[in-house]
Amino acid sequence: LGDACAAVQAHRYAVIADSRVAGLYGQRAVNALASVGLDAELFSFPAGEWNKSAEGWMGLCAELLGEGFGRDSAVVALGGGVTGDLAGFVASTYMRGMPVIQVPTTLLSMVDASVGGKTGIDAGQVKNAVGTFHHPAAVVIDPELLGTLARYQRISGIAEAVKAAAIRDAGFFTWIEDRAAAVRDGDAEATVGLIEHSVRIKAEVVTEDPEELGLRAILNFGHTFGHALESVTGFAMLHGEAVAAGMRMEARLGESLGVTIAGVGERLDRLLESCGLPEVLEPPLDLDDLLERARPDKKSRGGHLHWVLLADLGIVATGDDGEYTHAIAAAECRGPLEAALRDAFEAADSSA
Ligand code: NAD
Repeated sequence: LGDACAAVQAHRYAVIADSRVAGLYGQRAVNALASVGLDAELFSFPAGEWNKSAEGWMGLCAELLGEGFGRDSAVVALGGGVTGDLAGFVASTYMRGMPVIQVPTTLLSMVDASVGGKTGIDAGQVKNAVGTFHHPAAVVIDPELLGTLARYQRISGIAEAVKAAAIRDAGFFTWIEDRAAAVRDGDAEATVGLIEHSVRIKAEVVTEDPEELGLRAILNFGHTFGHALESVTGFAMLHGEAVAAGMRMEARLGESLGVTIAGVGERLDRLLESCGLPEVLEPPLDLDDLLERARPDKKSRGGHLHWVLLADLGIVATGDDGEYTHAIAAAECRGPLEAALRDAFEAADSSA
C-alpha cells in the first residue's frame, strides 16, 4: 500500500474509512504509509449506505478543510463500496479534484466497485443520484482483509461476480458453477480466482468505454430492478442481494419478451442459490412503486425504463438501434414483470 501511495507523489494523504473499517484497519493503513515516509491521517464516518449522502460528503470535506488539506493531497479510500463511492466523490470534488487510491475491504468492492472510477452519493432515496467519473490512480486488493467481513456481506459480493460472468464470459459462469460451494464458503483459492476474473472483465469493459457512452451500460444488468429494490426497502436490502434479485427478474423479463433464450433464468437462479443467494422476494411488493423507482430519470428519457437484457449467458442483447439497453415503456413492462414477480414469489416460497 505504501508504495502504491508513494507513486502518486502527493504532499499529504487522507485515509478515509467508515467507522468499522477505521477501527479494524485504519491505523494499519496509516502505518503502512508512514513506513515509506508519507504523511497520512485517518478520517472516518459512520458505517452504512445512508451515510453515502450529501451530509456525509460535506462532513468529510469540512474535516479535510479543518486539517488544512490542500489540492496537492490524495485520498486513500479504505473500505467497501460505500467508502469507495463516498471517498472517491470527495477526492474528485475537493479543491476541484485530487487523486484517489482505492483499497477495497469487502468482496463486493474487490470484484467490482473499486474498479471503474464511478463515485457518488445517494439523494432522496435515489441511488447514486449525484456523482462523477474519477478513475483511481491505483487499486490495491488484499483478499486477506476479507477475514473479518461478515459472511452475509461476503455472500452479497458474490452477486456482482456472477453478474460479470453473466454479461461477458460464459466460461467464467461455468467456472463459478464448478466452485459454487467453495466460493460461498470463502475458500481462499476460489475467492482469489473470483476476484481476478471479475476485475479482468470489469477492467476490459471500462477501458473500452470509461464514461458509459455505450458498452459500459452492460455492467448495469440486474441494477434497474436492483436499485429500485434497494430504494423501496430503504436500503435494508444489501446491494449484492438486490442485484441478485434484480438479475433474476431481468432474466425472466428478457425471456418473456423473447430477447433472452429460454433456460438462462433458471441456470442463473440455480447458480445464485448455490452461492448462498436464494430468491428472497416475497409479497407484498408494490410493482407500481418499484417501476416508479426504477426510472428516476423519467423526465429526461420519455417515461421509458432502460433494461440490460441477456441474449444468452455471457452475451448481452443489443436492441435494433445497436444500444446495450432496451428502452421499454413502463406500461409494456408491467405484464411481464408481474409474471416475473409471481415466479419469484413461488420460488421463494418453495425454497423456504
Ligand atoms: P459497505 O461499504 O457498506 O460495506 C459493508 C459493511 O462491511 C460495512 O458495515 C463495513 O463497515 C463493513 N466492512 C467493510 N470491510 C470490512 C472488513 N474487511 N471486515 C469487516 N467489516 C467490513 O458495502 P459494500 O457492499 O461493500 O458496497 C455497497 C456499495 O457499493 C453500494 O453503495 C453500491 O452502490 C456501491 N457500488 C459501487 C460501484 C461502483 O462502480 N462505484 C459498483 C458496485 C457497487
